[in-house]
Amino acid sequence: RESKGKLPKYPGLERWNLVEKMGDGAFSNVYRAKDSQGQYGEVAIKVVRKFEMNSSQRANILKEVQIMRQIDHPNIVKLIDFSEARQYYYIILELCPGGELFHQIVRLTYFSEDLSRHVIIQVAQALEYLHEEAGVVHRDIKPENLLFYPTPFVPTKNPKPKGADEEDKADEGEFVKGVGSGGIGTIKIADFGLSKVIWDNQTMTPCGTVGYTAPEIVKDERYSKSVDMWALGCVLYTLLCGFPPFYDESIQVLTEKVARGQYTFLSPWWDDISKSAQDLISHLLTVNPDKRYSIKQFLDHPWIRESLEETQGAS
Ligand code: ADP
Ligand code: MG
Repeated sequence: RESKGKLPKYPGLERWNLVEKMGDGAFSNVYRAKDSQGQYGEVAIKVVRKFEMNSSQRANILKEVQIMRQIDHPNIVKLIDFSEARQYYYIILELCPGGELFHQIVRLTYFSEDLSRHVIIQVAQALEYLHEEAGVVHRDIKPENLLFYPTPFVPTKNPKPKGADEEDKADEGEFVKGVGSGGIGTIKIADFGLSKVIWDNQTMTPCGTVGYTAPEIVKDERYSKSVDMWALGCVLYTLLCGFPPFYDESIQVLTEKVARGQYTFLSPWWDDISKSAQDLISHLLTVNPDKRYSIKQFLDHPWIRESLEETQGAS
């Protein structure tokens, strides 16, 4: 991690005091920053190097921001502000202090079924919102783009009265570590750089059409949603065992394996993981997109349902 002294100064970003670099991408650096005006506290700022990009890459950034503007869900990173200087775009985002889920998998090797469920339900609820309400497909769901709050407790059976001391908060609910979730609270989907609008938000019709929608457009829309469902299956698989379902040193061989849907629940790693979890994954890692689970079917699966009913019953 970069030290404070090394952080660059960006023109037009004077309001924000950069604290540290949190991540980077092809054309961007992401920083943790403090609002000098105190309105937002800490934020994440994605500084995109406009000067390195051609016009279609620039258009994609504007599209990413446009899509984020339309979106409002507790499990999706919120856009706070957007501005640009001559050489940079600045995307001001809600900060996810825990960073990438990816690093958490590396740290813990793999997640328990309870922790995996806790994580994947939140991703799925964000996808349900995107697919069914916002008309957006994400198209880049992976552990690097799933961020989290390391909330050390889960909502409680015996809430402390409002106004109780800050320090008492840890007692407020069961410590997440205690129930095996390793300090992962809220999960947030980030990075809408590859996402696409499939529905027009105003008219609730497929994009770019006015009621003469051809079957291949309707189909295309369904297929693009199913892309996120495949990725959801890959993430769930990875959470449970610590390695991805499809991997090969050679891109060619890897592509071949994905195309055939060639994966296994490898022994001994999968020996103690429930058949119910494996069943759910197999319905996501289904090559035929017509047969692959939709988000509704996913949320209806027993492995997910059990716990949803439990938490609803407890409250
Ligand atoms: P890219 O399109 O370059 O992949 P991302 O939007 O995925 O850009 O951001 C790159 C990385 O920056 C993320 O993987 C994550 O590590 C970090 N990051 C992005 N947004 C946030 C945020 N809101 N809070 C914390 N870290 C973030
Ligand atoms: Mg990313």
